[in-house]
Amino acid sequence: MGLESQTEKSIYEKYNLKKVINASGRMTILGVSTPRPEVVNTVCKGLNEYFEIKDLVDKTGQYIANLLNVENAVVVSCASAGIAQAVAGVIVKDDLDLLYNLHASDKYVPREIIVPKGHNVNFGAPIGTMVGLGGGIVVEAGYANECKPDHIESLINPDTAAILYVKSHHCVQKSMLSVTQAASIAKKYNIPLIVDAAAEEDLQTYYQQGADLVIYSGAKAIEGPTSGLVIGRQQFVEWVKLQSQGIGRPMKVGKEGILGLTKAIELYVTDPRQETGQQMVTKMTPFIEKLNAIDGISARVVWDGAGRDIARAEISFDAKVIGKSATEMIHLMKQGEIAVYFREYKANEGKLDADVRSVTAEQLDIIYNKIKRIIQGAN
Ligand SMILES: *Cc1c(COP(=O)(O)O)cnc(C)c1O
Repeated sequence: MGLESQTEKSIYEKYNLKKVINASGRMTILGVSTPRPEVVNTVCKGLNEYFEIKDLVDKTGQYIANLLNVENAVVVSCASAGIAQAVAGVIVKDDLDLLYNLHASDKYVPREIIVPKGHNVNFGAPIGTMVGLGGGIVVEAGYANECKPDHIESLINPDTAAILYVKSHHCVQKSMLSVTQAASIAKKYNIPLIVDAAAEEDLQTYYQQGADLVIYSGAKAIEGPTSGLVIGRQQFVEWVKLQSQGIGRPMKVGKEGILGLTKAIELYVTDPRQETGQQMVTKMTPFIEKLNAIDGISARVVWDGAGRDIARAEISFDAKVIGKSATEMIHLMKQGEIAVYFREYKANEGKLDADVRSVTAEQLDIIYNKIKRIIQGAN
């Protein structure tokens, strides 16, 4: 190992990869997050051992469930896999014929998954694709900008398999029913409520609000390895686990992912290192002040639209002054030796957001200098 590590080139050099500054947040297209050393260590240790995998799945699941004070839990390969297997789980339950023939079987079982229309989003892949993978059929409730409890209730029928609620910054936020409201409908009609909370920070609240299954991405807020977490009520999680013999197999998580995420959850709960929003503000204040000194740019602190404790630097470009639109700036910032990625959702309003959770103060300087160079080159 000694020799290798002395002579080995960096990953960037070896494969001629582009260096990235990630000011976009926990983005899958950039590698999401960086686990703590303890998590990396656990992944390495896990890789070097053998286990009875069922034992590993059950015991780590129970360990996580105890940490979070929920009935049951299972580590999966990612949140998308969690959605697909949660949907399959509530459709198949423990019917082995359906488990083995989920898509081919013409056995009658409820397969409709009611999703508020404003939650039927593309998070990098469409929610509906995951539902379809799980053998479900999406039924949209309400409108693009509104979903009330009545909109869901009016769609419930004997073919309804579950309600799927997507708690996410990707979703329409206004005039949507709450998780609690969705849970009370689910309870009233005795159908399960699945919550996709992939990027959310609170690992308990949606379960406590009455969801039967809640899905998280392992590498987003929890900062684990590539993985996902499904928590929920005892029987429902057992049905999700059973999917490892069905659609779960091509999306299986390895022992290293199971152990790594379990450790990451333990640290997340017992020793949070979460930078608070206020700390983010402190880190980016000098950056914002310097940007405001550039003609044609205005920058300010904005808070996460989905209510998480995340502050970001919103940078507005006056195209008339600097000669470039926000879209052009986004493109140019990705060029050159180091690619800088921002949040691009507001580009059509002439703005972009810098998420500083994975950005150091030195990198903020690099970003500032790059912006300045691009703009001054234009003048
Ligand atoms: C990121 C995300 C997912 C997918 O998570 P993966 O772990 O990358 O599969 C699903 N739903 C929402 C709302 C997300 O933000």
